Amino acid sequence: MVSRVIPVDRFDLVIFGATGDLANRKILPGLYRRALAGQIPDGSKIIGAARTEMGAEEFRAQVKAAIREHVEPAKIEASAVKDFLAMLDYVAIDAKGDGGWDELKTKVRPDAVNAFYFSVAPALFGDLAERLHSRGIAGPDARIVVEKPFGRDLKSAKALNRELAAHFDEAQIYRIDHYLGKETVQNLMAVRFANILFEPVWNAQFVDHVQITVAETVGVGGRGSYYDKSGAMRDMVQNHMMQLLCLIAMEPPYHFDPDAVRDEKLKVIRALQPVAPQDIVRGQYLARGDEAGYLEDSEDPNSKTESYIALKAHVANWRWTNTPFYLRTGKRLRARTSEIAITFKEPPHSIFDEAEGEWRENVLVIRLQPNEGMNLKMMIKEPGPGGMRLVQVPLDMSFAEALGEEADITDAYERLIMDVIRGNQTLFMRGDEVEAAWAWTDPIIEGWEARGERPQPYDSGTSGPDDALMLMHRDGRRWREIRE
Ligand code: NAP
Repeated sequence: MVSRVIPVDRFDLVIFGATGDLANRKILPGLYRRALAGQIPDGSKIIGAARTEMGAEEFRAQVKAAIREHVEPAKIEASAVKDFLAMLDYVAIDAKGDGGWDELKTKVRPDAVNAFYFSVAPALFGDLAERLHSRGIAGPDARIVVEKPFGRDLKSAKALNRELAAHFDEAQIYRIDHYLGKETVQNLMAVRFANILFEPVWNAQFVDHVQITVAETVGVGGRGSYYDKSGAMRDMVQNHMMQLLCLIAMEPPYHFDPDAVRDEKLKVIRALQPVAPQDIVRGQYLARGDEAGYLEDSEDPNSKTESYIALKAHVANWRWTNTPFYLRTGKRLRARTSEIAITFKEPPHSIFDEAEGEWRENVLVIRLQPNEGMNLKMMIKEPGPGGMRLVQVPLDMSFAEALGEEADITDAYERLIMDVIRGNQTLFMRGDEVEAAWAWTDPIIEGWEARGERPQPYDSGTSGPDDALMLMHRDGRRWREIRE
């Protein structure tokens, strides 16, 4: 199967923060890959903006180096790189200053799709929005893309929403959560809502529990003081994991339409119960060999910020009452992996004796990384003449194999930026969703802060703190192994 590349309309994309890490590692290499794939029409322009004074040629040299560093060598084609660099331009602008805006205005054409990517600290979102609007650069059809973190609690998220809403309609605001751009995540909606097979069993009657795991092997070294103000709950659970939970738990939208999908996700977030303290485990990784522990990395020897969190969440509605959702995420764990596992219940009656093999539950595993794909663990008869013996086997579908080359290269950022140009907000968080997610998260964080709790230390390279195992053991369940 070969995936199709559908070109978008001609656009002018302004990237604020074009000299920064995200722009150089993800956004610009991603745009190059889309250009190489033939998705970007001739005449489109990508305009870098940041405070650094430089000309367009210097910016092109920077982007050329970024492509060399971050695009796989097989995708670097001299003529494609040349064509891509020819699309680039640069304007030196301080988000808080007055210089550069008139020049930018001359470069953004009203007859192309206009998009403005705020790849800068959230403290600058309001300044950028105000200037783009007041100087007549962004018209009513322009789109703005904002990066995470979108606030650090409900109050700050509301303030950011207000700052943006003062100048842009909600329909123009694209809040990026790159997890939503992953092939598998979108496929989750296709699997649930384009097949009759799963939906009838997608509820508390048939699903025993759901596990969502996002495990990283890296620590926070290098950005420790930034991470220390955030922690795993704010950095991963409130946004990425919450979005995954929503896609698993939501009701079928009446149509695959941005607001219909986001309305259903919002209902899930609002149905989340407060989490009891005994259903939360927080951890901090310890040093290993010459790798520093969290307390050294964070530069605060007394830090109480968690680099690991596991918690049990409940969605209080008809579909999910009594089906727990176990979420865990952490740094310096055994392997780098992200997956959602839906574990189904036992059949109501077994016609097989124990001698015929041990029954194991059906599990639908949705892998986000590495090797995006799905896998359904099923019981079958062991092949061969040895009589009836049951074994559990995975029905495996790796998207890279199923879809050919294109499947594993379309990075989430690339897909999401193309959606911005198309004007499709389905995979972007709406303002009320973000606020509802913080409204659930805030009391959890306030709870452990009020109790003065310290995270439990855990050894690097393991599955996290022991208490996290107990969180499931006490319910007679266990975590899936963390492995690639
Ligand atoms: P970064 O490397 O520190 O880059 C920040 C960018 O903002 C630079 O281009 C900087 O350029 C520009 N900038 C700073 N102050 C400015 C001002 N007053 N006016 C105009 N431009 C200004 O940060 P980053 O890692 O790229 O992250 C950018 C945003 O994405 C942040 O909100 C971050 O939280 C978010 N994010 C990043 C990642 C990631 O992997 N890096 C992942 C998810 C989200 P000058 O100094 O030249 O002005």
